[in-house]
Amino acid sequence: MTDCIFCRIANKEITSRIVYEDDRCVAFHDLHPQAPVHVLVIPRQHFDNILACGAEDAPLLGHLQWVACEVARQLNVAESGMRLVVNANRDGGQSVNHLHLHLLGGRQMTWPPG
Ligand code: AMP
Repeated sequence: MTDCIFCRIANKEITSRIVYEDDRCVAFHDLHPQAPVHVLVIPRQHFDNILACGAEDAPLLGHLQWVACEVARQLNVAESGMRLVVNANRDGGQSVNHLHLHLLGGRQMTWPPG
């Protein structure tokens, strides 16, 4: 989608701090980090959010989670611990309508989340 900011990041029309990419996804540092490590993992294919995915997209969703774990290891927050978050729609707090996983680490997370 030409008017989607994350599609434009995946296509490198907008600069971002990419930490990982392959043929299916891109991972880059969040512009407004909520933790010492805050990386977004997005599919190259546009989905408005995770609720727009079908059963046929399960391998891609699994791949995104595996990539998040690889990036966590790369950025040295795997052993200490990390959190993966997927916001969807209004009550979920989603602000960018392109599926993304938040990888958060480098500090103690709290529960329940806000
Ligand atoms: P969400 O609220 O779950 O939709 O998350 C969207 C995230 O995208 C927020 O954490 C924003 O800080 C982040 N964000 C928005 N624009 C950019 C950008 N151009 N580069 C990196 N992160 C961004």
